[in-house]
Formats: sequence, structure tokens, C-alpha cells
Amino acid sequence: MDIEPMHCYICSETIEKDDALDYVLCDLCNDMTSHASCLSKDFSDQGIPVYGYCPNCAKLLVWGDLIKASKLRNKLVEDGISFDLDQEPSNDSSSTERQ
Ligand SMILES: [Zn+2]
Ligand SMILES: [Zn+2]
Repeated sequence: MDIEPMHCYICSETIEKDDALDYVLCDLCNDMTSHASCLSKDFSDQGIPVYGYCPNCAKLLVWGDLIKASKLRNKLVEDGISFDLDQEPSNDSSSTERQ
């Protein structure tokens, strides 16, 4: 299967999907992925990023929420849980059918 490499919306460099803590994505448009460091520069007028606007959909994003989401993704990667939306966990597919 083909996995398209992700690219940073801001610097256009490739994003390593394994480094979940290294990137953030806008869950409002689901179309903006960037390095955490790139977007934090964009968000931090006064030094520490607090919030800013998605460069793609221009909606207000809270920096803490983006980081929280990437930490969650990182935990899923560490636990070996795939977060591909297409794939359903095949663990208990047999138990639900016979009721
Ligand atoms: Zn970047
Ligand atoms: Zn967006």
C-alpha cells in the first residue's frame, strides 16, 4: 500500500510520520500539516505560541490543543495502535455478529 509522504504546509519539507511530536495538524480543515516548530514560529508573536490562525483555512487554532493532539498521536504510535481511519481493529469482529 502507498503512503503519501506528508509535507509541511509552511516550509514544504517532508514530515516524518513517526515523529508524531514533531508535527501538528489542523483538525478543522484536516488539510494543513506542519512541523510544530514551523507553526509555532507563525503563532508566536510574543515569544510563546498561544494561538494563531490556520494558514490553510484561517480558523483560530489553540496551540495547546495542537500539541495535545500530537502527544496523543505519539502515544498511539508508541502503543503500536494504527490510527489509519480506513482500518477497523479486527480483534473482536466475530463476537459481535452472533447475538
Ligand atoms: Zn516545516
Ligand atoms: Zn485548517
